[in-house]
Amino acid sequence: MLSTTLALLPLLLTHSQSTRELNDINWMEFREVVPSKVDTVLLPVGTMEAHGVANNGADNTAPLALARTIAPSLNAMVAPVLPYGITGRLDGFAGGMTIPDEAYRPFVASILRGLARNGFKNIIIVNGHGGNTAALEALGEQIGREMKVRTLVVNWWAYCSDLTLKIFGEDGGHAGINENAFIQAIDAKLIQKDRYKDSLATPRPPAGTWSAYPFPSSIILYQPGQGYVKFDQGKADAYYKAVADKVAGLVRDTIRKWDEAKIFRD
Ligand SMILES: [Zn+2]
Repeated sequence: MLSTTLALLPLLLTHSQSTRELNDINWMEFREVVPSKVDTVLLPVGTMEAHGVANNGADNTAPLALARTIAPSLNAMVAPVLPYGITGRLDGFAGGMTIPDEAYRPFVASILRGLARNGFKNIIIVNGHGGNTAALEALGEQIGREMKVRTLVVNWWAYCSDLTLKIFGEDGGHAGINENAFIQAIDAKLIQKDRYKDSLATPRPPAGTWSAYPFPSSIILYQPGQGYVKFDQGKADAYYKAVADKVAGLVRDTIRKWDEAKIFRD
């Protein structure tokens, strides 16, 4: 028992830093930690957009919590969440905001360059919002090539759609059973259950059939008849844990393969 404890001691000391939050660390400690002890950063990004009976900032709440949950097991730092994004057709709902693509891209590019310049080798963008995806994927490639850093963009809800089917037995939707549950697991106070009714939801129209601005519902079901919100706390907690494990696994495997291939390791 004693020898086990002693054996672990150097490992614990190596990782004794006051915080994993870039927002909270100071420059002296940052210099001691990055990149010699930590060379991976998680950047949560989202937007301000209506989400049924969940908070308008659900797309910020979700990736920030997810990043904080998985950071210790990945030995990663967590960058401040970028809470404004490319909202698109739901920006007409109260409290919605959207950043034009041509303003968003150079701003995010500068954040990625800043993370690279500060020594991070693995920049993991934990995206909470589908409207950002095309810009983030393009920027990940562009800045990765330019700065010789490895970048990964993960859209947690899409990457984990199999877990929606497994845990809820049906497909989900924007602010549907899956995303609403994810927020409920993080902070149940962010969900106003009393305001919910199924008529708040509309199935996503098949491509080329119809479109509307603003889209008439902030709950957008991926499949007709599936994904209506339920409020099962047990399933919500199980879903959150399963998503966190799956996303952490993707990040871990991707970094291991980059390392094995010695990519951008001089
Ligand atoms: Zn969302």
